[in-house]
Amino acid sequence: MSNVEAAPVETACGHEQVPEGPTHELMPGREVVLGGPRGMAVSRTLPHKERRMVGAWCFVDQYGPAEHDMRVAPHPHTGLQTVTWLVAGEVLHRDSIGSEALIRPGQLNIMTAGHGIAHSEESPAGRTGPLHGVQLWVALPEQARSVAPAFAHHADLPVLTRAGAVLTVLLGELDGAVSPATAYTPIMGAEAALDGGARLTLPLRSDFEYAALVLDGAARVDGVPLAPGTLLYLGRERTSLDLATDAPARVLLLGGEPFDEEIVMWWNFVGRSHDDVAAAREQWMAGDPRFGEVTGYDGAPLPAPVLPNAQLKPRGRRR
Ligand code: MN
Repeated sequence: MSNVEAAPVETACGHEQVPEGPTHELMPGREVVLGGPRGMAVSRTLPHKERRMVGAWCFVDQYGPAEHDMRVAPHPHTGLQTVTWLVAGEVLHRDSIGSEALIRPGQLNIMTAGHGIAHSEESPAGRTGPLHGVQLWVALPEQARSVAPAFAHHADLPVLTRAGAVLTVLLGELDGAVSPATAYTPIMGAEAALDGGARLTLPLRSDFEYAALVLDGAARVDGVPLAPGTLLYLGRERTSLDLATDAPARVLLLGGEPFDEEIVMWWNFVGRSHDDVAAAREQWMAGDPRFGEVTGYDGAPLPAPVLPNAQLKPRGRRR
């Protein structure tokens, strides 16, 4: 999806202070409206004012369930991967390298923007039922941020079955199951679909930091009651995580090695400086071949918002 805030601010991310050990930081989402006047309310939990990233995960938008047609016109990305994961509904993806893919729950769309790509996302004709899912972005590290753009649709992700739980590995590895999706940093993402009354302990990596987001229902994550709309940051130095439910629920677990580079996010771009995102904006507005052209979408591309004049200074670790 596109960040369709009317006046997005530049956000410096990465190289943050990471707790030495386990923690519980509740990070409530803020509501943004995506997709213009007929937009759908979205809860954004990353970047958060208290914490911008979890591993290389730098953007978490949660939407639905809503009876809503998604219609996100062609828009650009740089320096990141987009990760699309649905709880309900279908989304048709088209991009400027010729990909066209319909995604359904349980499947993964991962688009590597690298140097630059454009894509559109929309509900397919004849949609029935609500739309419910998450849009996640992963920042690319310096050595990969200018790779050629790529897109992959994974319909057969590894699934682990445990008592009262079905775990799907989106990215990276969980309990020996490895996602086929390409990652450029040590990272993981997995969904736990939990029965009512489930009690589950997941193995974690002590060198990763983790966060959990409930997608549906309610769960206790390391004993903390959690509902949709709030990200629970868990810190690191954990080797396991307890999940428990009373009624059926879905929990998304995100983790990774703390991202030690400073990045600048603005609109749909990740760069290393204000000048990077300003150049990307200019090129998008000028129709530069950097982003290519999306064919098949019935509508005009999204114009970039105005870029604030204020220039961000590189930031050090938070104290
Ligand atoms: Mn997008």
